[in-house]
Amino acid sequence: MRYVFADYNATTPCSSEHRRAVSQLLERVSANPSSIHHLGRETKRLVEEAREKVAALFGAERNNLIFSSGATEANNLVIQGLVYERLARTSRPAKILVSAAEHASVYQLAETLQKRGLCELVYAPVQADGTVHTEALLQLLDNELALVSLIHVNNETGAINPIANLADLIRKRSPQAHIHVDAVQACGKMDIRWMDSSAIDTASASAHKIGGFTGIGCLYKKRQAKIFPLIYGGGQERGWRAGTENLPGILSFGLRAEEIAAQGDWLRALEPLKAKLLRGLALIPGAVMHGDPARSLASTVNFHIDPLSSEELLLAFDAARIAVSNGSACASGGGRPSHVLKAMGYTDDVASRSIRVSLGEGSKIDDVELILKTLLDLVRWKKRSNLGTA
Ligand code: PMP
Repeated sequence: MRYVFADYNATTPCSSEHRRAVSQLLERVSANPSSIHHLGRETKRLVEEAREKVAALFGAERNNLIFSSGATEANNLVIQGLVYERLARTSRPAKILVSAAEHASVYQLAETLQKRGLCELVYAPVQADGTVHTEALLQLLDNELALVSLIHVNNETGAINPIANLADLIRKRSPQAHIHVDAVQACGKMDIRWMDSSAIDTASASAHKIGGFTGIGCLYKKRQAKIFPLIYGGGQERGWRAGTENLPGILSFGLRAEEIAAQGDWLRALEPLKAKLLRGLALIPGAVMHGDPARSLASTVNFHIDPLSSEELLLAFDAARIAVSNGSACASGGGRPSHVLKAMGYTDDVASRSIRVSLGEGSKIDDVELILKTLLDLVRWKKRSNLGTA
């Protein structure tokens, strides 16, 4: 029986060709890149080649790229690193601003730091379409801000923030502020090579969102960024992230970065699929799409169906062997309403009933048809069973 994978924003399955390509590289090199013998040097050379390819996604030089265990760590490195650096230098908690629709690795972290008295936290509201409310953001920008952290593309809704413009506005009004961007859902899906010549100081990305291995991510970082490292030890990653390098992960990230750069704007191929999904949803009684398709990525559709719960929807999808998530995969399972949908103005009830369909390179029009058929069957069955009990 065929199954449909429509959970690409959670993770992107990696192909057997990719796994083979990484294995082939590992057969050539698998020494410690810090070892000075010839095997170590050859391993180091491949790590640096991979670094160069990943850095190129940001339009940057390899010296601007730090490998980490994932984007969660990269976001933590910047936010905690900045908060601790500030505290050590000024003995005062840093004032930081994050949007109300950040990924948990920024949102939860900022909340925790605030609760511990380590920072003063300000939220930038988002609009009904899930993008940052520019006017409201402008009102919040001042000379006190030490850090602004904004998501480029939202993982739950696909909403795209005009991040280059926002960064320019922030730089003008809060010249001292460090500007960090969570670029996880943008990197490899949109061209972000302009980033190195933008006002942005740091940005995070993750290999498993672009067909690479899990457990490897990166931080793009301009030289002047003032942050403390999180992990101390052997001085790897030029002291920014100690610990022996995750060689398979780094090689995987480098290979995928190279392939993606060669592919160009592959996401365009998903536009007809998203359009079909939206047309189909519009015909399903009770279906409500969240956000604005014109301001969101072609890969992502977030919706709810009145009065169905996300459990009913997920069970129906699972029975049809369709993999989708409710809200964000990282937050799902907790049964909590999505803070992203709440920030967009939805009630707790709706925010706990959202479904995210996220498409990727392997998605086909048949997948969308099966998703729509499963939804229609469920809605009809529900209607019949309600009539039966009435
Ligand atoms: N930010 C966003 C927008 C994400 O979608 C994710 C992954 N769900 C992360 C950060 C965390 O990435 P990682 O899994 O590499 O820690």
